[in-house]
Amino acid sequence: MPVTLPPPQYNHPPSILVIEHVLTAEEVDAICHARHALGWDGRAPPPRYRFSGCAHVTARSCEVWRIDDGAVRRHELGHCNGWPSNHPTAQELANRPATPYPRAVLPLSPEQAKTFEEASQRSIQRNGPPDVLLRQVLEKPKAPEPQ
Ligand SMILES: [Zn+2]
Repeated sequence: MPVTLPPPQYNHPPSILVIEHVLTAEEVDAICHARHALGWDGRAPPPRYRFSGCAHVTARSCEVWRIDDGAVRRHELGHCNGWPSNHPTAQELANRPATPYPRAVLPLSPEQAKTFEEASQRSIQRNGPPDVLLRQVLEKPKAPEPQ
């Protein structure tokens, strides 16, 4: 896996205590697997994944196991500074919505709004007001668990 540098906001000396263990590639890989470090995509790595470094961050310190490589060092220190384990880029961090919304909200034209309102009224006449429907759903007894 390529070693990427963290985005600028994480690419600086950490302000917390850093404990670094510079080891051979085999030692780093064994320790990072044993510590259940996360792989490149931030998920549990497959057994054949090769670690060149990993970091364990707590509120007071950051412990790093890594090979003797400047880029790997800056990568892991980025994690010490809070860079998420799925390695978002500066662009991805900037584009991330503050609160994800489950679906797109599209503005309606006046004609669409009128059609929508009429359909809504017909639905209420057929089914009762929405809060009645909601109450029916909430009070519906739970279906038995599948065997
Ligand atoms: Zn990483």
